[in-house]
Amino acid sequence: MSEMRRDLVAPCGMNCRLCIGYQREKNKCDGCRNMNFVSYKTKKSTTCVIKDCPVIKERNLEYCFECPKMPCQRLKQLDKRYKTKYHMSMLENLNYIKEHGIEKFLENEEIRWTCSNCGNIVSVHREACTNCKESVFDNVKNSLDNY
Ligand SMILES: [Zn+2]
Repeated sequence: MSEMRRDLVAPCGMNCRLCIGYQREKNKCDGCRNMNFVSYKTKKSTTCVIKDCPVIKERNLEYCFECPKMPCQRLKQLDKRYKTKYHMSMLENLNYIKEHGIEKFLENEEIRWTCSNCGNIVSVHREACTNCKESVFDNVKNSLDNY
């Protein structure tokens, strides 16, 4: 059974399944698309800045690439930070989804973010697998080479 879910991919291209906010036990967030009042209040992560974008709300966009302003300053900043710090890119994700569809994207995500040591889904916000402590970076880097 797939661990990846369409409703966990945020409009900005972030896969909320990989977010530590989703993976943690305490104050768990259900993802940007499933945000309830409680998780909204407790959520501190800046991954979620796009969630409150007025254009997404007004035009009821599913992904940022449907927006005429894509990529906006906010998305570019977010993307830059994630590329530098977390070895992933919102813009790459969005381009991939636009070109190949969400189902293919989810298949790749499952391969890319599954711990090669224990099979746990790792978090993009942690350097080691939360289950077995295997380095996430080595894992992701290897799968990126075959992407
Ligand atoms: Zn592991």
